[in-house]
Amino acid sequence: MAVCGLRALHISELEGKKPMVIVMKKNADKEQLEAVIRRIEELGYRPHVIEGETRNVVGAVGDERGKMVLQGLESMPGVDNVVPILKPYKLASQEVQSEPSVFEVAPGVLIGGTHHLVMAGPCSVESEEQMISVARSVKAAGARVLRGGAFKPRTSPYAFQGLEEEGLRLLDLARAETGLPIVTEVVNPRDVELVARYADIMQVGARNTQNFPLLKMLGQLDKPILLKRGMATSIQEFLMSAEYILSEGNRRVILCERGIRTFETATRNTLDISAIPVLKEQTHLPVMIDPSHATGHASLVPSMCYASMAAGADGLIVEVHPDPAQALCDGPQSLTPEDFSAVMAQLRRFAEVAGKTI
Ligand code: PEP
Ligand code: MN
Repeated sequence: MAVCGLRALHISELEGKKPMVIVMKKNADKEQLEAVIRRIEELGYRPHVIEGETRNVVGAVGDERGKMVLQGLESMPGVDNVVPILKPYKLASQEVQSEPSVFEVAPGVLIGGTHHLVMAGPCSVESEEQMISVARSVKAAGARVLRGGAFKPRTSPYAFQGLEEEGLRLLDLARAETGLPIVTEVVNPRDVELVARYADIMQVGARNTQNFPLLKMLGQLDKPILLKRGMATSIQEFLMSAEYILSEGNRRVILCERGIRTFETATRNTLDISAIPVLKEQTHLPVMIDPSHATGHASLVPSMCYASMAAGADGLIVEVHPDPAQALCDGPQSLTPEDFSAVMAQLRRFAEVAGKTI
């Protein structure tokens, strides 16, 4: 990871206004880095080391009002310079890390860079038979992660709310059967510990994008987080939500665009395809698309999968149900296993052109 994204701005231009990052010299040694970390802590800030191929940088996160004291670190051995970050989100920004984040969501399952990751499965976990059957078929089609909601954030309190812990247990069974890691949503901060006992990837739904207490708790976990964009969340707000997780120490955040609210009613939401290249300009974090909740119609899902690949997405999360007509939740937008398999075959062809591996 090189640090060429840092802007050469003079401190005085931004005095008192912007967060700081400490850029170490190329030949700085471990002791010098540790001394910088200690000094940042002494000053009341939280250090975040971003390791680079040629040099390391240390983000100093904390109260922005007094942060000019950090400028003094410039005279420490091994420090090249101290620069302000222009964006309000720091750890998510390309100013701190110019190269894309690539990380494992489970052993051997990567996302980011050239690694495109497909997650698939039903909207909600309904039964053992449903989960085992869908897990087998999405695996055979090439998905690397199994999705399934055990806690469902439904618009109506009278709609099926999910099987809760029993649903998590069924996901665990399907994982044992297929080896696929699982992604599942946590709706309530009070359930974080329970869901984390089962999930490989913790999902934050669109209704919780700005649930800051939940984001902070997830920031303290050592598990990747799939953060959905809220239906009325700007890209900057979305990145600030990611920052909540990152600033607590969890670096494995995946952003997911799932459609936003517009005046259009032909689709369930409006898939903001341009959010992919916009995010790619702003952040090093991987960006995924959920074409199922974005469109609300199974017939529209394949084309959005291909479009997202062309736009540079790092992955997809797609709803697949063995029998969409009988689904307890989101049947109309769920692909059959056969349709999903056809989408994957076509997607592989697009991936070749995009220089990605699925
Ligand atoms: C889901 O993925 O199950 C879900 C509820 O999606 P969203 O939060 O994007 O509406
Ligand atoms: Mn759904």
